[in-house]
Amino acid sequence: MKKIRDGVYTNDYAIFFMTEEILKDLDEGVLQQAKNASQIPNVEFLGYTPDAHIGKGTSIGTIIVWDMSKAWISPTIVGVDIGCGMRLILTKSYADDIDKNLLKKMMNEIEELIPTGVGKKNKKISLSRSKYEEYLQNTEIDKDISDKMVLIHEFDLDTIPDEAYEIGKEQFATLGGGNHFIEFQKLHVIDDEVAKEWGLFEGQLVVMIHSGSRRFGAVIGDYYQKKFKDVMKSRGIATPDPQLTFLPIDNKVAKDYIKAMQSAAIYAKVNRHYMSNFIISVLDKHGIDVWVLYDVAHNIAYMERFANREKLVIRKGATRALPPDHYLIPNPRFLKTGHPVILPGSMGSSSYLMRGIEDNIISYHTVNHGAGRVLSRNKAKKTISVEEFSKALRQGQENEILINTRNLKDFLDESPQSYKDIDTVINSVITSRLAVPVAKMTPLGVIKG
Ligand code: 5GP
Ligand code: MN
Ligand code: MN
Repeated sequence: MKKIRDGVYTNDYAIFFMTEEILKDLDEGVLQQAKNASQIPNVEFLGYTPDAHIGKGTSIGTIIVWDMSKAWISPTIVGVDIGCGMRLILTKSYADDIDKNLLKKMMNEIEELIPTGVGKKNKKISLSRSKYEEYLQNTEIDKDISDKMVLIHEFDLDTIPDEAYEIGKEQFATLGGGNHFIEFQKLHVIDDEVAKEWGLFEGQLVVMIHSGSRRFGAVIGDYYQKKFKDVMKSRGIATPDPQLTFLPIDNKVAKDYIKAMQSAAIYAKVNRHYMSNFIISVLDKHGIDVWVLYDVAHNIAYMERFANREKLVIRKGATRALPPDHYLIPNPRFLKTGHPVILPGSMGSSSYLMRGIEDNIISYHTVNHGAGRVLSRNKAKKTISVEEFSKALRQGQENEILINTRNLKDFLDESPQSYKDIDTVINSVITSRLAVPVAKMTPLGVIKG
């Protein structure tokens, strides 16, 4: 590995945005997956964020860029939870003014409105087909508080497999399983000036949502993964990993995929939009004033302009972090600061709000999307005990953390020990000069998917 600058290293294949401390523990598998991804034709840039870890066919924490004129696209790299992302709701209340009983009550009320766990439907919502179809192509929704989620601006609902269409209609406004969550947090200001611009204050109660496109995106991802494989085979396109698929964007199947992917990205955003409306209705009922700060995706392909050239950028388990004055910033409010980047830690550690800076042109305006796993799901389930999990939720915490889940045994793979230390990761981001912190949040209550 050659050092480019502090926190930025390169080998023959990719750039690694991480401090030595993180780099020394980087899984060999990520290096292999970097080598594999670098073999996709015409790649202009390949980078890895400090939360990088092995994924199916490609690593979580990948940034990959092509010039639009000769771009390829990969459903493997976008990933199956297309459009998965974070949304942060702010309140006008102090966390310390909300007592435990009220918090528990609000968490229960939210869970009554938003089903959690795998494969759930939201019976509180009935969507007409026309409304549903409008949502799948609606680039206007929450336009001023979220990233633009589209790549080519062309939609075609016929590119969506029937199974995705049907199940997606039922799963709107559901959280999903695993590491998707709704979390009440207490905010601590790091940057006073930016905090003021964004409406943040010391001790503020905030609510963070992490969710994606549910089965809708998953079915689309799987469906196109298979189709890409078939086309690659018939056209004699070799891949270093049978799990890694890719095609040039002018290929018919690739074009269809991009259209379906855009709908899935919007689905994920509308899903978070609906959930935040339910959460807001509960807080409202208890006299708590609320508004949404920002919504940002971390599994997505976009078109973005760099040095007057349009590029195709895929961020997988990585977050766009536009610096101040960037032409894609959707709201004048964030022009001076860059838009908010929402970075979760784990259910038993801090999370952060950051903002992108000009120096992150080197990562194509990208930062990490969280702490990232340090233990695979299987390994976590085998090595961590309920006692250790429970202890991690109590030790060193500012507040007792309320959780909705009845049985820690069922999600040992979500224990704080399964994730990297978020402070080490944030320190790495600062050292690499990708983003700067605005606020730190500590958990109060977690509704786990
Ligand atoms: P992913 O999008 O890769 O599924 O996960 C995003 C990140 O969310 C993880 O890398 C982890 O740092 C963070 N995370 C997972 N579960 C929780 C949780 O319950 N609360 C918070 N604050 N962060 C979490
Ligand atoms: Mn997800
Ligand atoms: Mn996610």
